[in-house]
Amino acid sequence: MSHCANFIDGQWIDSREIIDNINPADTDDVIGQYAQASVADVEQALAAASASFADWSCGSIQQRFDALDAIGTEILDRREELGRLLAREEGKSLGESIGEVIRAGQIFKFFAGETVRLQGEILDSVRPGVQVEIMREPVGPVAIITPWNFPIAIPAWKIAPALAYGNSVVFKPSNLVPASAWALTDIISRSGIPKGVFNLVMGSGNSVGGHLLNDRRIKAVSFTGSLHTGAVVAEACSKHGTKYQLEMGGKNPLIILDDADLDVAVNCAVNGAFFATGQRCTASSRLIVEAGIHDDFVAAINVAVKDLRVGDPLKEGTQIGPVVDESQLNQNLKYIEIGKDEGATLLVGGGRVERDTPGFYQEPALFIDTNNNMRINREEIFGPVATVIKVADFEEAIAVANDTIFGLSAGICTRSLEFATRFKRECKAGMVMVNLPTAGVDYHVPFGGTKDSSFGAREQGSYAREFFTVVKTAYVGR
Ligand code: NAD
Repeated sequence: MSHCANFIDGQWIDSREIIDNINPADTDDVIGQYAQASVADVEQALAAASASFADWSCGSIQQRFDALDAIGTEILDRREELGRLLAREEGKSLGESIGEVIRAGQIFKFFAGETVRLQGEILDSVRPGVQVEIMREPVGPVAIITPWNFPIAIPAWKIAPALAYGNSVVFKPSNLVPASAWALTDIISRSGIPKGVFNLVMGSGNSVGGHLLNDRRIKAVSFTGSLHTGAVVAEACSKHGTKYQLEMGGKNPLIILDDADLDVAVNCAVNGAFFATGQRCTASSRLIVEAGIHDDFVAAINVAVKDLRVGDPLKEGTQIGPVVDESQLNQNLKYIEIGKDEGATLLVGGGRVERDTPGFYQEPALFIDTNNNMRINREEIFGPVATVIKVADFEEAIAVANDTIFGLSAGICTRSLEFATRFKRECKAGMVMVNLPTAGVDYHVPFGGTKDSSFGAREQGSYAREFFTVVKTAYVGR
């Protein structure tokens, strides 16, 4: 078995084409070489997922429980090692990486429990002597297509429910983070799941991803990634009648009202905007600040951002790791220029910085004097770049917060029960936070957005069953 192989029909399958996995903190560090699935490999994975579905879907839920529980246990036991691997390939700090690994382990444990908790309903029919049963059944072979920014947690929160509810899986991770995908697959391969039920096909979005989207054996596609790719997924799935769910971008607002605790507000803003190098779909990229607290907030966050330590994720004390790759760094730097050209003031940061090793390091950047019509406030940048928008009052803050195509997460810092309550009701986002960063969510409750951020059923928690099962209604006469 080679470290670079795909996992298809219970076998590690090598391939002729391989890619290097490069550490963004040190481009001289090649983490490993990973297979690129050929058309034949993807075909074999699709055939295996189809052939194994019948037995798996009506097999023992105890077997599913035991497998998912074992996967969760191994992930949690190896949190340090897997966290280091994740930090090396994605670039978030070691603490954040270990936290992500723990979350992945907890997700598998949670869905182990879900296998034995799935319920149906029994109702009386309106016709005497007839009983109605409502049951949930697995959907079929599902394709799981994931982005690079949470290399183990996002695969976990799709793969675990897919398997828990009896689906077979073809998993295509992002080519920027194959090591975490491979490590997770290695753990799954030893968990007792029958051959063919879980398959890993690494490769490019267009070739491997496109192949999965256009194969009628796939009955559902769970996708997380950019708005652009989400539209491709939607089009293909609509054409083929495939069920799909999309989790995409964000331009998440954090409102700071005059009555906020300044320390809480600065902590929420710095964490939400810059931790994980700003590369979270739930990152706070627009800080909407009421006029009365604006100057104090700007002065305090300026100091806090200057203090952030950018460096190698594996180094003690690093808070902000590198950007994931050169093209993402160039995109961030391009938006810094766009912001300046639009008339915004760059308060702090924004430049590329050098460290001991060649990597994609960038100072966290904060713009002030911005308005919500600027491109830096309308387009997802997906890096450590945030803006401050000054507003007159709560009404304007809510209007600005909602004036976006996105609706993933939104937050408010306030000590007013009235404004907190109104914010929760009036803010058009799938997740709303009070006195907490917009990023950072629990594993046992639903996750997802509104508007262009999401499409389809919610992910995570028990709500995941909406996507990974179909409802059947049975009528039983005497
Ligand atoms: P991306 O859209 O470029 O890629 C996501 C996945 O889709 C990758 O596996 C990629 O190979 C695959 N892909 C690309 N083109 C494809 C095609 N034509 N057919 C099928 N598959 C294809 O996104 P990314 O750059 O990896 O991730 C960053 C994006 O993900 C950001 O927009 C971010 O907001 C979003 N994201 C959203 C959430 C959420 O839950 N809402 C979470 C994390 C990331």
